Amino acid sequence: MPQTKCLKCGNPALIEQLCKDCYLDSYHNVIGFKNFNLSVCVMCGSYNYGKEFRPAMEFDKDFLKTIKKAFFENTRLHKKPESYNLDAEFPQHEKKQGNQVNVMVAIHVKTKIGEGKYSLTKEEDYNIPLRFRYTVCERCSRGYSKYFEGRIQLRNRKNLHFNDVVSFVRAKVKERKGVFITKEEELRDGIDFYVTSQKFIQTIGSGLTRRFAGDLKVTSSLHTRDWKTSKDLYRVDVVFRLGDFNVGDILKINHKFVLVKSVAGMMASGVNIRQNNCPAQENYKTHDYEIIAKADDAVEAIIVKKTPQVEVLHPETYQPIKVENPKNAKIDEKIKIVLINEKAYTVSV
Ligand SMILES: [Zn+2]
Ligand SMILES: [Zn+2]
Repeated sequence: MPQTKCLKCGNPALIEQLCKDCYLDSYHNVIGFKNFNLSVCVMCGSYNYGKEFRPAMEFDKDFLKTIKKAFFENTRLHKKPESYNLDAEFPQHEKKQGNQVNVMVAIHVKTKIGEGKYSLTKEEDYNIPLRFRYTVCERCSRGYSKYFEGRIQLRNRKNLHFNDVVSFVRAKVKERKGVFITKEEELRDGIDFYVTSQKFIQTIGSGLTRRFAGDLKVTSSLHTRDWKTSKDLYRVDVVFRLGDFNVGDILKINHKFVLVKSVAGMMASGVNIRQNNCPAQENYKTHDYEIIAKADDAVEAIIVKKTPQVEVLHPETYQPIKVENPKNAKIDEKIKIVLINEKAYTVSV
């Protein structure tokens, strides 16, 4: 039988009309890689690259075994390889809940082709980027975990809005995927929430100051983990002390009637409704103040006159009454007013 020649290079053909080298060049066991993201629980090492978390394989430095398993299951192959190995190159990063790192994974697949003395070995190398994310699994989040990166501490139960603030924090954490409250501690004058994301604790902190009146303090303290590879981490605590008044209340302070729009530190900011709603900012720690109207004292009233002065119907007597701080408005429009010393002020400003 005449010796057939390799279709590519002309050397003696061995398999499928190709020589050994050309055959190996053209052969690929790996068909492709399915796309996936890998999440690993910072608390217990369980991992997820599909629909649900699976128990931890090993809580090692780079989660290499987990990555290997995830990649192997997401590699489409013609046949079972002789060996499947990989190495992962992590950038410098903190093992912190919510952190995502792009990892370069070098995969080496060795495949035996054929049997006996004609068998060949194909080696394939691939570099595939992997999105690797630190998270907290559901099990750890349901109180099985002691993991937290900081606390949100709410103080001053006397404030009428204290429970609203508590609900606000719970709702914000609940709607944020991957962030959990792992412990709630009731205290005499407040409550502490242990939260799994530092970043989000600060987000909530600034959200609280926009929504409620109070003092916000952020403190961080050193907090070490017992992992062999861990770096020192800082814990972030946010203390939010509700004031005696709230956004929307009217303070008599420094001869002004300040409709409070926001509170930051010692400053209450808003508008002076006694003086054409001009912007006002007062230090309520150094000035005496009086809460002359609460936000929910405001009632609706209809504008009945525009010139020479804006008048609404008095909500109780239904007699026309002048609005001290009118804004642009139309006849028949409803505005919110408060009555202070039998004078009407609008808070719709
Ligand atoms: Zn050839
Ligand atoms: Zn876990």
